[in-house]
Amino acid sequence: MTIHKLRRFVGTIAALVDEAPRESELIEHGLEALRDLVREDDWLPDAYAVPSPERYQQYLLYADARQRFSVVSFVWGPGQQTPVHDHTVWGLIGVLRGAEYAQPYVRDAAGALHAHGAEVRLRRGDVEAVSPAIGDIHRVRNAYDDQVSISIHVYGANIGAVRRSTYPHDAPPKPFISGYSNDFLPNLWDLSKEPAAS
Ligand code: FE
Repeated sequence: MTIHKLRRFVGTIAALVDEAPRESELIEHGLEALRDLVREDDWLPDAYAVPSPERYQQYLLYADARQRFSVVSFVWGPGQQTPVHDHTVWGLIGVLRGAEYAQPYVRDAAGALHAHGAEVRLRRGDVEAVSPAIGDIHRVRNAYDDQVSISIHVYGANIGAVRRSTYPHDAPPKPFISGYSNDFLPNLWDLSKEPAAS
């Protein structure tokens, strides 16, 4: 198990955000880096892969010092799903283990939310993006009711602290702040225990 892939990924995203490109470019290049990160499931520390029978887990892997971005390990227990929700910032999703279904929602002319098209199945290694500009509201669920799935998410803010909304059926939007499931962070920075990253 080695953390250097995550450390390198964080550096890539930080460099990208430093360049302050247009959001579409940031998403394109961010997705390339994320696709690379989730290509092999050999780097996520076990402590960030632990499901809870209560609800899906959101473990913070990294938060930028200036809260320009964050990286989260999203761990689905069997059959778990999110409510319909938004993000309010750009977000990148890459499936590391198992698979998930994402159902996008759009507003009609009267402002009512509707499921848009069919659920999209994201398999191991697949990536996708959300943002207010390209579609920000969805519901996501584990594709399996008998195994854990894990996806790695990157957001354009410290997502655990962002005020956003869930959208209950036939009820007004409900404000929420997701927080994080972990009370500690991985040690990304001790370089003494592994060979130098290639
Ligand atoms: Fe989401």
